[in-house]
Amino acid sequence: MKIRVIGGGPAGLFYAYLMKRDDPSHDIVVYERDPENATYGWGVVFSDVALNFVRDIAPEVYDAMTHNQVVFDEMAVVHQATHVTLAHNTFHRMARIDLLKALHQQCRKVGVSIEFDSKVEDVAQLGECDLVVAADGANSAIRTKYKEFFEPELDVRPNMLAWYGTTQLFQALSLIFRQNEDGLVISHTYQFSPTHSTFLVEVDPETFRKAGLDRMSEAESLAYCEKVFADDLKGHKLLSNKSNWFQYTIVKNKRWHYKNIVLLGDALRTGHPSVGSGTRLALQDSIALYEAFKMCGADVPSMLAKFVEIRQPGSDSLQKAAIKSTEWYEHLGPKLHLDPISFAYDYVTRSGRVDHAEVRKRDPELAAAYEKLHPEVLETVGAAK
Ligand SMILES: Cc1cc2nc3c(=O)[nH]c(=O)nc-3n(C[C@H](O)[C@H](O)[C@H](O)COP(=O)(O)OP(=O)(O)OC[C@H]3O[C@@H](n4cnc5c(N)ncnc54)[C@H](O)[C@@H]3O)c2cc1C
Repeated sequence: MKIRVIGGGPAGLFYAYLMKRDDPSHDIVVYERDPENATYGWGVVFSDVALNFVRDIAPEVYDAMTHNQVVFDEMAVVHQATHVTLAHNTFHRMARIDLLKALHQQCRKVGVSIEFDSKVEDVAQLGECDLVVAADGANSAIRTKYKEFFEPELDVRPNMLAWYGTTQLFQALSLIFRQNEDGLVISHTYQFSPTHSTFLVEVDPETFRKAGLDRMSEAESLAYCEKVFADDLKGHKLLSNKSNWFQYTIVKNKRWHYKNIVLLGDALRTGHPSVGSGTRLALQDSIALYEAFKMCGADVPSMLAKFVEIRQPGSDSLQKAAIKSTEWYEHLGPKLHLDPISFAYDYVTRSGRVDHAEVRKRDPELAAAYEKLHPEVLETVGAAK
């Protein structure tokens, strides 16, 4: 097959790799807008489950991806300056640039051609081909060009985010909630390499305006955040990498393909950084599109229909959880009076999919601490077992 992939992020690269590994006679080119070593942002985080998908289908990619990873088991919620540790939250963390480099290396090994500094905004630029994979990220130009067919729904969330780094090493993946005279400022932070942590800051629109962040330069915003999180950073600086404020857009598409063009990864559907699932979703899309090919062969209409059939249920369910999580962070006002244990418990149960019995299984210490404060919860698990 002649396949052209627009976008050299995790979705496009992994799909190109799987197809070319399967059959070297496929003619596959990936077009990437940016230069080879460009990366914006810092680290990415995956749950154990997320990486198992990769290990099952491509152990060699798993090995390359995880070569420079760090893995820790802890998570912490910091509220009212108190750390509450949440047990059994194993996360693999790695630099986004390392992840991309590993995928570049694996793609080249099997003969995928990657053209950097190559922006594609219209499929007409690509000439005749069997399949066009639009893996060009959350602001996909291809999706926009054919929006009448894909019918995207773009839900721009109200909170403002900035993706910083720091040399303070947060071994526990930490959610830090700091209140000041302006309101509430949140950090999602985790160590992703021997030397650095990702430090994503989230601010609601009211706090953002009151703090004057809407009028500050990038350097002033960074200094403001350093001050808010001074006790957590312990003298370390925040580091910027084009770390401007942005609003997260939850992307959905009514249709996933049009003619021989298919959307993949963030172009198709986004999760939310608070559940750290964007890259996982992207890699699972790549696997599903590859599996659809294995089931249907080069019959493109059947292959694309099969892709939707096998991928949509899992994708919708993860996105639903991501939206719930997003909303939790957007409506924290009435919860800020909660003591640190009750607040951490509220976080753990925010998706609505985890009840008290499940908390007891996953994190008996948190469950016991919560039961002490709220004995009535025992009734929900069938008296005091
Ligand atoms: C603040 C923040 C934190 C995040 N944290 C995490 C996390 O911890 N864990 C996690 O799993 N995910 C995280 N994500 C999400 C993750 O980055 C994405 O979900 C994931 O990278 C999606 O992969 P993708 O290949 O679909 O898109 P992208 O990674 O966005 O890749 C798309 C590629 O297409 C290229 N491109 C765009 N337009 C064109 C064009 N016209 N022509 C050619 N190339 C083009 C871009 O340069 C880019 O390289 C985070 C996202 C944000 C914004």
